[in-house]
Amino acid sequence: MQRVDTPPRDGDCKGLNPNIWYPHADKTQPGNFSDNYRKARMNTGIALQICSDCHVKEECLSYGLYHEHFGIWGGMTERERQTMRRRLNIFVVPREPINILLPN
Ligand code: SF4
Repeated sequence: MQRVDTPPRDGDCKGLNPNIWYPHADKTQPGNFSDNYRKARMNTGIALQICSDCHVKEECLSYGLYHEHFGIWGGMTERERQTMRRRLNIFVVPREPINILLPN
């Protein structure tokens, strides 16, 4: 798989709530954990549904494989990408640092 180093900008998730693509059940959120877990599972389903028709899915998956431990990228969950990395012998590499201009 060709390595992609920048996340796609015009995927089908553009403009939608990014939390849907990071669906961890959070113990710090109000409400009980099983409700939050259920919500996280529902968000995973929504994200995977949206990703399934996305026109930049392959590019997004490649970026996610090489650069992202967390979240859903290219229609694959963290665990699915981890399995694929092991199979393809891919290691996550940090992205290029962003150049930040600091005031003098
Ligand atoms: S594949 Fe999914 S996460 Fe990637 S750009 Fe498309 S909708 Fe967004």
